[in-house]
Amino acid sequence: MTALATPRNSTRHVNFAGGPALIPDEVLQEAQESIWNHAGTGVGILETGHRTSAFDLVLEETLRDIRAVGQVPKSHDVLLLPGGAQMQFALLPTNALRPGDRALFIDTGTWSARAYADAARAAALCGAHAECVWSGSDTGYRQLPPAGHAADARVARYLHYCSNNTIEGTHWAAPPACAAPLVCDATSDIFSRPWPMEQHAVIFAGAQKNLGIAGLTLVIIERSFLQSMRDDLPLMMSWRRNAEQGSRLNTPPTFAIYMAGRMAAWILRQGGVAEMAARNARKSAAVYQAIDQSAGFFSGTADVQDRSAVNVSFRCATKELDAAFTAEAAALGMVGLEGHRTSGGIRASMYNALPESAAATLAEFMRQFAARHR
Ligand SMILES: *Cc1c(COP(=O)(O)O)cnc(C)c1O
Repeated sequence: MTALATPRNSTRHVNFAGGPALIPDEVLQEAQESIWNHAGTGVGILETGHRTSAFDLVLEETLRDIRAVGQVPKSHDVLLLPGGAQMQFALLPTNALRPGDRALFIDTGTWSARAYADAARAAALCGAHAECVWSGSDTGYRQLPPAGHAADARVARYLHYCSNNTIEGTHWAAPPACAAPLVCDATSDIFSRPWPMEQHAVIFAGAQKNLGIAGLTLVIIERSFLQSMRDDLPLMMSWRRNAEQGSRLNTPPTFAIYMAGRMAAWILRQGGVAEMAARNARKSAAVYQAIDQSAGFFSGTADVQDRSAVNVSFRCATKELDAAFTAEAAALGMVGLEGHRTSGGIRASMYNALPESAAATLAEFMRQFAARHR
């Protein structure tokens, strides 16, 4: 049997977790330094006040680098809001919908289904409506709407879709065609490939997958859409009030903001999102090849044309084999391969920070595992 490449070092495993996810060594080292003494201020970043000049600079640099990485157009504001992506499932409809309004949803997986369910609750509170215009649930979320499928163009406040379905392992190759303002949940693929920000009214992403640590959500929003939002909400729930105060309406998650800044700077140093996309395509291709060449030992959960480049979901013939797979992989230092608790199976999440060598090692392990357990 060919020897597997060893993990990067003996104390840290290779982490394929869906999120919170792996962070580049370089960024962790910067953070370690900064926790002790941030930028030579003599105060650690965890202890730095959110209205100090040191934190002014962190926020300024984070916003600047996020804009640069995402090529965020001038027409759009960048907000850094507390709470995870699911907080925005609630706040977005709460801010956007007025009585009689209609929000549309394309249901391509667990996260869009949850966003739809929460929007329906928020809509009911104000006499608005949430409608699902397409759902892949009957076909096990294996695929996205067929190319050329145009979402119902009836007058709508917005259309929500999820660019990368983290659990089911599918992604959109391009945003859906629709006349309504587009809202995108990009939590699992933000900055993992070029994405046309200018076609969107809102793109939001919880930070813990591709942009650092939990507790923060990036919201990129077209200024005119922001200005059209409700103005009668309690302060902390209001996107407009948060925007007016530069994302410092209250004490923001300062460390998560710092980490998002370090991640954005790291992506820029690596060559930006185009380089990330090239690496992610190679990593996922290596694992998909191991699935496709396994003569049915492994089966993917997504149809080939819609496969995600960052979350590769698959399973063996039995739950026992899935469990043996993740246990044997863990013994070799490859952890976090268990599928989502709602779906089971196996999932290799290979966000920006995962080195290409780790994907190659996993693919080699898959070949050896299939040969041993066939
Ligand atoms: C992980 C994930 C979420 C949930 O994020 P939280 O920050 O835990 O609320 C939502 N949407 C997508 C696409 C995700 O991958």
